[in-house]
Amino acid sequence: MNKKRIINVNEKKSNNRKNYVIYWMQQSQRVHYNHALEHAIQLANQFDLPLVVYFGLTSDYPDANMRHYQFMLEGLKEVRDILKKFHISFVLKLKSPDQGILSYLGNAEALVMDQGYLNHQKKWRQNVIDYVEKNGLDIHIDVVDTDLIVPVHIVSNKAEYGAYTLRPKIKKLYLEFRDFTKMSTIKNQTQLELESDDDLSNIDNLIKKLDLDYGVLPSAFYKGGYIEASKMFFNFIQNKVNHYLESNDPSNDYTSKLSMYLHFGQISALEILDRMFLELDRGNVDGQAFDAFIEQLLVRRELAFNYVFYNPGYNQFDQMTEPWAYYTMKEHVNDKREYIYDLKTLESAQTHDAYFNAAMDEMVYTGYMHNYMRMYWAKKIIEWTSDFKSAYDTIIYLNNKYFIDGRDPNSYAGVAWCFGKHDRAWTERHIFGKLRYMNDKGLKRKFNIEKYVEDVNEKKELSGAK
Ligand SMILES: Cc1cc2nc3c(=O)[nH]c(=O)nc-3n(C[C@H](O)[C@H](O)[C@H](O)COP(=O)(O)OP(=O)(O)OC[C@H]3O[C@@H](n4cnc5c(N)ncnc54)[C@H](O)[C@@H]3O)c2cc1C
Repeated sequence: MNKKRIINVNEKKSNNRKNYVIYWMQQSQRVHYNHALEHAIQLANQFDLPLVVYFGLTSDYPDANMRHYQFMLEGLKEVRDILKKFHISFVLKLKSPDQGILSYLGNAEALVMDQGYLNHQKKWRQNVIDYVEKNGLDIHIDVVDTDLIVPVHIVSNKAEYGAYTLRPKIKKLYLEFRDFTKMSTIKNQTQLELESDDDLSNIDNLIKKLDLDYGVLPSAFYKGGYIEASKMFFNFIQNKVNHYLESNDPSNDYTSKLSMYLHFGQISALEILDRMFLELDRGNVDGQAFDAFIEQLLVRRELAFNYVFYNPGYNQFDQMTEPWAYYTMKEHVNDKREYIYDLKTLESAQTHDAYFNAAMDEMVYTGYMHNYMRMYWAKKIIEWTSDFKSAYDTIIYLNNKYFIDGRDPNSYAGVAWCFGKHDRAWTERHIFGKLRYMNDKGLKRKFNIEKYVEDVNEKKELSGAK
């Protein structure tokens, strides 16, 4: 493992040995290709101690509802079962993650945390570090960045202006971070009897126990977990990848649909990259398709993480985009809008635009939406809302409510892009000013968009929607 992934945040002072090493799993909910888990195993082996993996399950995760929890718990159940086979204890606490961990710290030799990128994730980790300092706990603490190919703090020490500034930096570094070989075996296989609220054998029961927003049902189309993510990847390699250059067309199902698995850390971006290289070497993937996919997985995705990590205002309308974009919005805020729709009309897909409605339905009934339609969908909300801030709030609300991959760095970067972030100024026009504009004529000209509408209607019917 490239040691640059590891940030030491606290050193243990005394030599008296404690009972175990603990890995606080939060962002990276997987066993495979998990550098934080690997680092924790190595520390445990160094001290000849057993390893405990802890997960804190809070019922009030920002904007999360039953759809997200179901997907996440399906993945966590797999994690628990695989860890058991590797003789690693797993404990789950029904508490805010930064609170649930505290009772385990006193007996821990070392704590390993995976990196968090959003404000609340950073705060949770900082709360624990503050607690350790305040209470004088004698414990070694490391943070490991394992959800990005190139750790966010290594690729750049500031917010990048756009893909064109990040690309050369990340391309120079990423081969150095193809650094996962094999998970080590834990030497001390003592099974610890630690207090746990683990009820993952019965996810329905666990979900009932949590005080959740039950208003958005789990997706009938996508199931969580590493096994499902792997199946998705194999399907992508077998049937889609060599059409990736045509994947912009929403009527083609040529993208990987891995975003929801990446969001929960159920599969690692590095594992996807390594597998892509393998398929390239085997001659199964065309070079241009490979490059186009890596542009999304490596450059675009990691630009989003750079964006949220270095811009704490990523989720605030008045801080999320560029000065030129605010200037142009200010100039056009009073432009007359031909249509204005309220949230209810948008959410129930009742607008005059069949393509928008189909996109909205795809989101509500499946939990996913094609990238091109995400752009179109958000641009239409901007066009049909009386002011830009309300449009932003509506887009974020719907994005995070329905997408399984919502509440991700990519959510905030993707939405901000619709307001000019990481984009450029375009020719001045009504309502949008210099923000990029999209219309239905483009959809009709470039794609078989009627087929997209038919496909979504079919999925809606399959989902059992009335
Ligand atoms: C308005 C708007 C909202 C968005 N909301 C989200 C969101 O909530 N969650 C989310 O994960 N993505 C979001 N995106 C980014 C993008 O649309 C999705 O990541 C992509 O559609 C996921 O589909 P896929 O996995 O099949 O992509 P593929 O084409 O198979 O790409 C592979 C991976 O590359 C990354 N990627 C692909 N496209 C982009 C992109 N445009 N920007 C950054 N990374 C990308 C993703 O991690 C994706 O899984 C949003 C984009 C826009 C314009």
